[in-house]
Amino acid sequence: MYTDTVNKLINEFEKLPGIGHKSAVRLAFYILESPIDVAKNMADTLIEAKDKVKFCSICYNITESDPCEICSNKKRDESIICVVENVKDVVAMEKTHEYKGLYHVLHGSISPMNNITAGDIKIKELLERLKDDTIKEVILATNPTIEGEATAMYISRLIKPLGISVTRIAHGIPVGGDLEYTDEITLIKALEGRREM
Ligand SMILES: [Zn+2]
Repeated sequence: MYTDTVNKLINEFEKLPGIGHKSAVRLAFYILESPIDVAKNMADTLIEAKDKVKFCSICYNITESDPCEICSNKKRDESIICVVENVKDVVAMEKTHEYKGLYHVLHGSISPMNNITAGDIKIKELLERLKDDTIKEVILATNPTIEGEATAMYISRLIKPLGISVTRIAHGIPVGGDLEYTDEITLIKALEGRREM
């Protein structure tokens, strides 16, 4: 039996995604057996990250200044918004150095199986951005999964009546795949081959 404090530590690690009980015990003992600085640095970094990193109030990408660097960069094409599911997808798209428009991070996809509805992701916020007539095209770059396709379909139905061009990135990204893990060439091709929905 561990002490109460050790159990508490194990418990905290177990709250992290993908960490089961065994891994939590391993992590807890790693910390307990390490010099105090390891724990101190980790605790400080956690607090610092939560303090400094926020979501951009325009595109919902992570940032340390609001609006984020992409939204406030005057060289970006303000007439195009690329809609992605996660922050990691923005990083993947930026790595291609091909896309010069803006982004909108949904923070998820519509998934009835997991009780995630349109209201749970940043769709309302996207529609809000389309109110002024700067935006000419919305590229739906949600993942080619059932949820990603359903989300793209749902958003396209809302945007089309506004007279804004709605395109979907081309396939080539394997079905069920993830933008985040797609190589840059495939991503560039998917972007170039986008079609009107
Ligand atoms: Zn932004």
